[in-house]
Amino acid sequence: MNLISKKFDCIIVGGGPAGSTFADIASQNGLSVLVLEKDREIGVPVRCGEAVSDKGLRIFHSVEKEWINSIITRIRLVAPNETAIEFDLNESGYILDRKIFDLALAKKAEDNGAIIKTEAYVNGLIFDEDKVVGVTGEYQGESFSLTAKIIVGADGVESRVGRWAGLSTHVKLKDMESAIQKTVTGIDVENHIFEFYLSRNWAPGGYLWVFPKGKRSANIGLAISGLYAKEGKSAYKYLQEFLNRKYPNVSTQTIIAGGVPVAKTVKNMVTEGLMLVGDAAHTVNPMTGGGIISGMRSGLLAAETAVSVIKSGQNPTKKYLQKYEKEWHKIGGKNHEKFYRIKESIFRFEDKDLNRIADGIADIPENKRSLFKLFSIAVAKKPSLLLDVARLFAGL
Ligand SMILES: Cc1cc2nc3c(=O)[nH]c(=O)nc-3n(C[C@H](O)[C@H](O)[C@H](O)COP(=O)(O)OP(=O)(O)OC[C@H]3O[C@@H](n4cnc5c(N)ncnc54)[C@H](O)[C@@H]3O)c2cc1C
Repeated sequence: MNLISKKFDCIIVGGGPAGSTFADIASQNGLSVLVLEKDREIGVPVRCGEAVSDKGLRIFHSVEKEWINSIITRIRLVAPNETAIEFDLNESGYILDRKIFDLALAKKAEDNGAIIKTEAYVNGLIFDEDKVVGVTGEYQGESFSLTAKIIVGADGVESRVGRWAGLSTHVKLKDMESAIQKTVTGIDVENHIFEFYLSRNWAPGGYLWVFPKGKRSANIGLAISGLYAKEGKSAYKYLQEFLNRKYPNVSTQTIIAGGVPVAKTVKNMVTEGLMLVGDAAHTVNPMTGGGIISGMRSGLLAAETAVSVIKSGQNPTKKYLQKYEKEWHKIGGKNHEKFYRIKESIFRFEDKDLNRIADGIADIPENKRSLFKLFSIAVAKKPSLLLDVARLFAGL
């Protein structure tokens, strides 16, 4: 297809969960939509632990069996002194197969009329004075320039679209975690447990995860903060140390690395003719590092604004597009700020604090354990956390 022959209401740069959700909602509501994805296939390469909650996923879709590698019903937290605390989750979670999941989201948008092009690399924006009116790029060895009423930057953590449009998307060093993960096979792990290891020695300023993918395979990864890591010690080295110690005989299927912005959402999510969604707008939950559901949520909210602006014949100026920003702060953003502040407190915990919390909860019968209980004990063992939480609720 000649890309240049058609005019679109929205052009979306990036075919991840945030971009596909935007495309799905916008096309469902009658907008003409083009998604440009630089990779050869949607969903590949996977750069993710693939964990989501059932509740989160159901905001958008009924859950399809083929998306799921394993269903998670329990959580195990391992403290620095190796005390393991286990309890049932109130709501189940999943380890997705993101290759299949991302493709399914894109196909859903396509079924509603969106056009999706892979190997379509966007390399710049087109401006009319200070308004973004299109994108330039390369598709099948040819350059293209395309215009649309709204351009959507859904181009992930390394987003350049926002920067090109003059938005400040810089992440402070302390808020950018380095993550690395191996998908391993030949491993014996329980298939329904999310396992997290917490220690400055294992994953400073973050955590290490073991997520079962079924069929004796698992995603084992960690995210660390440069602020707390030993000088010169890479995320890879931390992961390798853990694998050598705990799982020396597994085979590595894939290895991936990437940044996770555990930051506040970007100050401006929109500008004249342009919106940012997902990792590009720093919508990742700063406490958990999970960005699939929050990215999809931002895609949904942005698309709803785009639909109302375009359908009412308004000019997609910053003023009108800001409705999305307001909705984000109303629905997701307030929690986002809270999670950011809790993260700031929790990542300051030293191993001795974590051990004391683990020992405290280990004394509680398993059927009385919950994340809330864990948090109460954390506060009791380290009262300064209470101050942080009080500040959080007081908005200081
Ligand atoms: C190691 C690791 C583990 C993680 N684990 C989890 C987890 O367990 N659960 C969870 O919820 N989140 C996790 N995350 C975060 C999660 O992967 C992201 O938050 C999520 O993928 C964000 O979705 P998105 O659509 O915003 O961006 P992405 O999924 O990154 O999609 C962006 C797309 O844009 C494309 N693109 C970029 N630039 C261009 C361009 N110039 N032209 C065209 N296309 C372009 C990219 O190829 C990509 O396909 C993890 C992240 C990492 C790094």
